[in-house]
Amino acid sequence: MKKLCLLLTLALPVLLLCGCGASSQAPAEEPIDSTLYVKSVDLPEDFILGMDISSLLAEEASGVRYYNFDGQEQDLLQILADNGLTHIRVRVWNHPYDADGNGYGGGNNDIEKAVEIGRRATAAGLKLIVDFHYSDFWADPGKQMVPAAWAGMDLENKAQAVYDFTADGLQKLTEAGVDVAMVQIGNETNGAMCGEKRWVDIQELMKAGSRAVRETCPEALVTIHFANPENAESMLNYASKLAYYSVDYDVFASSYYPFWHGTLENLASVLSTVQETYGKRVMVMETSYAYTGADTDFSGNSVSDESGGITKNYPFTVQGQANAVRDVIETVASLDSGLGVCYWEGAWITVGTESWEANHELWEKYGSGWASSYAAAYDPDDAGKYYGGSSWDNQAFFDADGRPLESLRLFRLLRTGNAVEPTPDAIRDTVLRVDLADSIVLPETVDAVMTDGSLRSVPVVWDLTEQEIADMQNGGPATYAISGTAGDMEARGTLTMAAFNYLENPGFESGDLSGWTVTDLGSTEQLWAEEKLTDSLEGTWHFHFWSPQPGSVEFTLEQSLDTLKTGNYRFAVSIMGGDCGETELYAYVKLDGETVATAPLKITSYGEWDTAELRDLPYEEGHTLTVGVYVKCQGEKSGAWGKIDGAELTAEG
Ligand code: CA
Repeated sequence: MKKLCLLLTLALPVLLLCGCGASSQAPAEEPIDSTLYVKSVDLPEDFILGMDISSLLAEEASGVRYYNFDGQEQDLLQILADNGLTHIRVRVWNHPYDADGNGYGGGNNDIEKAVEIGRRATAAGLKLIVDFHYSDFWADPGKQMVPAAWAGMDLENKAQAVYDFTADGLQKLTEAGVDVAMVQIGNETNGAMCGEKRWVDIQELMKAGSRAVRETCPEALVTIHFANPENAESMLNYASKLAYYSVDYDVFASSYYPFWHGTLENLASVLSTVQETYGKRVMVMETSYAYTGADTDFSGNSVSDESGGITKNYPFTVQGQANAVRDVIETVASLDSGLGVCYWEGAWITVGTESWEANHELWEKYGSGWASSYAAAYDPDDAGKYYGGSSWDNQAFFDADGRPLESLRLFRLLRTGNAVEPTPDAIRDTVLRVDLADSIVLPETVDAVMTDGSLRSVPVVWDLTEQEIADMQNGGPATYAISGTAGDMEARGTLTMAAFNYLENPGFESGDLSGWTVTDLGSTEQLWAEEKLTDSLEGTWHFHFWSPQPGSVEFTLEQSLDTLKTGNYRFAVSIMGGDCGETELYAYVKLDGETVATAPLKITSYGEWDTAELRDLPYEEGHTLTVGVYVKCQGEKSGAWGKIDGAELTAEG
């Protein structure tokens, strides 16, 4: 492929045709007037402000139009360039079509789509980041399926296929004059890629892809991309594997979704360790945040009001979205080798606002949903079953009509900041827990999240009658949704009536395992308290386990108490998980070390919590009561995993 560039050099300037890494002019900056609060960030001149818009062509084919801040319809690429973005990212699947040529969806992003988007990006002065998945459809930590055409290949042939596919794709892009700045060898390749699961094999494929970039697009940066930075140990392990096998790459990239991927402090720590230890550039290759909890396309979203309202002081508002993204950018910019931040699918809005049926027709026909029913030909268990529309429409920078949100101004306001007077933006969710023995006292104030992210106490009027309060007071153990108004904003929350819980740290909300004893009876790789709102039954923390080796998961998680009063007690605990294969699971209670009661637990699938309850447990003062969970899993696929949460030890009435 190198030959091509050299030959073309004879006729035309190489940077024009083989556009890899060519520089472009940034749009002229004019002062802008905005209501968006932005705290300035010290950004390096060449900091990458990217956006993945892979679904663009499918969106346009489905009738979606985009508008600029003047209300005029315009090419999305030009709108993004005018609003301070510097790079566009696009995914490339090998062949996202069934035997009849029906697209699998998710933008049907093959190399031809990348060329078309890349050409338009280059015309708008934006550089391209090419994201090779080396799969016929979505590749992520849970899924790294080999392209159908490469199934059954031995490693040597597969590596050659990766080389050829990469080189051929980059040749098509450069021939079209696309300005390729960066090339990803694999997408979120957390210990798997292209159907391979051993690092000794994965690294061969990565090397083949990297060599193709060096030879075809020598100016482009080679990037390896992982997800789940909240598992710092795993991330650092990936970096060490790349070094051990001498994989030739420039940029260590991580996904960072604020609602899933731990704290910014942890992200900074992981990336700075990689930059210092291995001398690599680092960046956040995917991030996003919701501007609303509502769905606009009749197909459920990855984050929503149900998945948790205000976490980490970022409400699901236009300002909250801007603040969340701004803080990710500041975190990466603060690192010596911080290269940039790329927003994921910032324009994947609804294709219509009429009905699911009307949208479904467009998703099927043009691939504008996350998956079409045709994807069953390749991925029958997931996409083939749960196909649908955009799971990301509430995380776009455009509303359902394609009008830009004020948060899109963020990118041009980052360097200067925009110090408008902070105002209340949303009310933080209130979480009340009342002992059954106590009287309900509703708080008189709630926390308003200000546009600058700070909190301010504001008066609240709860929308509850005296009768409703009395019913909750006398209704026994239960959790109620409550709402009210604070200023002109809605206040929401939950009120839980519950018996006193004698366990220490019963839901792991202290952020560690304090109070608990974990005994690893096998060789379970991950056993720890984890912060992830969407994976927790209550609060934002839970106990997490995962282990890839078959049969390696066996442990107990228990807590002992010896200062209870004589009486009868009740123990309950909940579990969920997946890929566990054959299991032996139960909750247990011991008295002075002797098991006195057990109750079976089962693990089925993500989000399906199973609760074990043990009642009428007699206890006498001076003895030791131990409550716990025993877990043993054979495991399947990428390894048994699970979550334990909501432990309760209460006195029986
Ligand atoms: Ca949706």
